[in-house]
Amino acid sequence: MTVRTRVAPSPTGDPHVGTAYIALFNLCFARRYGGSFVLRIEDTDRARSTTQAEATIIESLRWLGLDWDEGPDIGGPHGPYRQSERTEIYRQYADQLLAAGQAFYCFATPEDLDQMRRDQMARGETPKYDGRGLALSAAEVERRLAAGEPYVIRLKVPEDGVCTFQDLLRGEIQIPWSQIDMQVLIKADGMPTYHLANVVDDHLMGISHVIRGEEWINSAPKHQLLYEYFGWDMPVLCHMPLLRNPDKSKLSKRKNPTGINFYRAMGYLPEALLNYLGRMGWSMPKEEEKFSLAEMLEHFDIENVSLGGPVFDTEKLDWLNGRWIRESLDDEAFAQRVSDWVLHSDKLRQIIPLVKDRVEKFSDLVSISSYFLSGIPSLDASQFGQGKLDIENCRQVLQFSTWVVDEIDDWEHQALYEGFAELATAMQVKLRDLLVPLFIAITGRDSAPPLFDSMAILGPDLVRARIRNALSTIGLPSKKQLKRYEKDYRQLLEGKALP
Ligand code: GLU
Repeated sequence: MTVRTRVAPSPTGDPHVGTAYIALFNLCFARRYGGSFVLRIEDTDRARSTTQAEATIIESLRWLGLDWDEGPDIGGPHGPYRQSERTEIYRQYADQLLAAGQAFYCFATPEDLDQMRRDQMARGETPKYDGRGLALSAAEVERRLAAGEPYVIRLKVPEDGVCTFQDLLRGEIQIPWSQIDMQVLIKADGMPTYHLANVVDDHLMGISHVIRGEEWINSAPKHQLLYEYFGWDMPVLCHMPLLRNPDKSKLSKRKNPTGINFYRAMGYLPEALLNYLGRMGWSMPKEEEKFSLAEMLEHFDIENVSLGGPVFDTEKLDWLNGRWIRESLDDEAFAQRVSDWVLHSDKLRQIIPLVKDRVEKFSDLVSISSYFLSGIPSLDASQFGQGKLDIENCRQVLQFSTWVVDEIDDWEHQALYEGFAELATAMQVKLRDLLVPLFIAITGRDSAPPLFDSMAILGPDLVRARIRNALSTIGLPSKKQLKRYEKDYRQLLEGKALP
């Protein structure tokens, strides 16, 4: 068998270290068996996918030193490698399933489905699609299609019995069909869902092994069913253990920086980050902690992956990165890497327009722009609560700011300005006052070069980490407080004033 693996990120938001982790294991597996590794961009969510995010994913995976044999940027015999360019293909396969009675039209509106769920819950049942589309006669379907009613296409799923499938690391897995939803395959906008596009592409691209995160285990029955309906062999499935926060919860940006670009901006070496990701659930034969990609490739064996949730611990990463810096960079290489990091002309060109007006001599530059280079500023609680907002208000504003930041897809000045201006209006606070705690969180001081431009340069992960740092300086909100903030924030978004 020709081994072919793939990583299939969705270009929404910042490239996640989890994507690099999965890419690394797919790459190692393919190389180990002399096979090929493919990058596929899963951009069927048209509202959330951006070309900017795709470019950033490619750039950051390359920065890490990962490379692929086929992909949207380099082409290959199985392209296009961007799902939005393959919609015709998916539609043909959906039609094939419809013709065979393995998929069906559903005309239920979102309101109908909400009502259905409410009724089910009122009866004490677990909410689930009730198969109403299956009950429509062929004539009724024809009539509604001819009338131009919006519809989705759903997968027909057995009602009883158990789905059994194999996982390379976990052996046999069983999931009762009653837990599997009649998945939407084609959405109302005509785009395929992940499930249909993923199965069709894995087949057409000749993928032999699907190595992906364990969060996809529950999708495997739907995928297996699709392979069966199409009469195709299913690739070998291998679900990797999820990366975890030190408290063992799923690694999330709310608790830990998760963006590859955060680690890049902080000045970690790509080979150290890759080394660290390689140690997530896998170990070298002699348990060496520091190893290069070439060494990992030489010894790679997927069977050595252990399923206990690997903890992504930044202290451990710091230690490993320090070793790489000390043991593998001579002074010359060190100087080169520091200049590749931020002390290069492209970065200076971004920073200079923000600071030029404040500089009388070059030596002023260092203190004015130091916050672009430092990781997380050291703050003191007494810096907060001096202006119009007291400490409690600062805590609330900083917490709300983390949510504003989360919602900004297009990370640039204007979007940041609009996000925060909207928050200020909703909170009935002057934008200038609202930004004071944010200034301190981001720059370490209460006045500095323009804030939104600075945030745009720093990037979302570093900004989020600095806001979180400010929150822990003044005291993180308690669980109860956080619940109240969440409620208040939702209320603000709905245009209601706070109590
Ligand atoms: N697009 C999915 C993701 O973003 C891919 C999952 C898979 O590998 O099947 O993770």
